[in-house]
Amino acid sequence: MTDVWDLFVLEYARSHQQPWVDLVSGMYADGGVDLPFSFMLAQKGDRNVLIDTGFMQDEGSSGFSRKFGIPNWISPVRMLSEIGVAAEAVTDIVITHAHFDHMGSVGEFPNARLFIQKSELLTWYEAIALPPRFGYLTAIIDPDNLRTALEASIEHRVTLVDGDENDVLPGIHVRLGSGHTIGQQFVIVETRRGRLVISGDCVYSRHQITGRDNDGVYVPLNNATGSVWEQLKTIDKINKEIGGDQDRLIVLHDIDRWTGLPVVKEVEGYKIVRAG
Ligand SMILES: [Zn+2]
Repeated sequence: MTDVWDLFVLEYARSHQQPWVDLVSGMYADGGVDLPFSFMLAQKGDRNVLIDTGFMQDEGSSGFSRKFGIPNWISPVRMLSEIGVAAEAVTDIVITHAHFDHMGSVGEFPNARLFIQKSELLTWYEAIALPPRFGYLTAIIDPDNLRTALEASIEHRVTLVDGDENDVLPGIHVRLGSGHTIGQQFVIVETRRGRLVISGDCVYSRHQITGRDNDGVYVPLNNATGSVWEQLKTIDKINKEIGGDQDRLIVLHDIDRWTGLPVVKEVEGYKIVRAG
C-alpha cells in the first residue's frame, strides 16, 4: 500500500441553466442545469499530480467561457493555492481529454509532465487542420491549448499514452475511454479508500450508467465526436471497473457536487472535497 494517493476534487466554475439535452441524449423534458466544472489533485510525498487543469478566464484566454455561457468561475490556479500547492510545484498532469474546460490552464504549470492519449492529441491536430466547414468537431477545442501541448512536446514534457496503461505514475492508471472524444481516457487512482475512478467526460450523469429510469440501459452523451457505439462500450468499461459501486466513481461535472465527500475548504462558493 505504498502507492496510495491523497485525492481531492477542486471545483472552479459553474454554467448557468445549460439545457440537459445539449449534454445527455434524450433529456428533452429535463430543462436546464447549472453544471459544475472541476479538476483533481492527487498528492503523495513531493508529487502533485493534476487530473485535468480547468480553464483560465483572463485577457489572455480565448473567451471560451463567454462562448459557452459559464458566468461563474474562479481561477484553478487560485483554488490550488488555497490547498497549499503553487503552480510551479505541479509535477505531472494527466489530461482526460483536450476540451478547453479540461486542458485550458495547461500553460500555467511550466514544470509539469503531461500524460495524454496519443490518439487524443494527434486527432485534434488532424481535426484542427481540416477546412472550416468541419468546425463542429473542434468547437470545444481552444487552439492555444494545442500550441501549448506542442511546446511541451518540444521540451520533452509530454508522454503520449497508447491505450490502457497501469502505473503511468505508481498507483495511477489510465484507460482509453473513446466516445466523447476519440482519445478520451478515464483515470484510476489508488487511495486509502481503494481504487477510485475519475470519469473524465465519459459520463456527465450517473444515470448514464444506471439507466434513465434506473433500468440499467446505458445512455450516451449528446456532445460527442466519437460514436454512440464507442461511448456505450466505454460506459460499460467504467461500470466494470467500479464493480457497479457508484461510490467509487468521481464525476467531474457531478451536478450533486460530490455529496458525501468531506469538504476540505470552500472558497467563494467553490468546493474542495477529499475524494480519497
Ligand atoms: Zn469534454
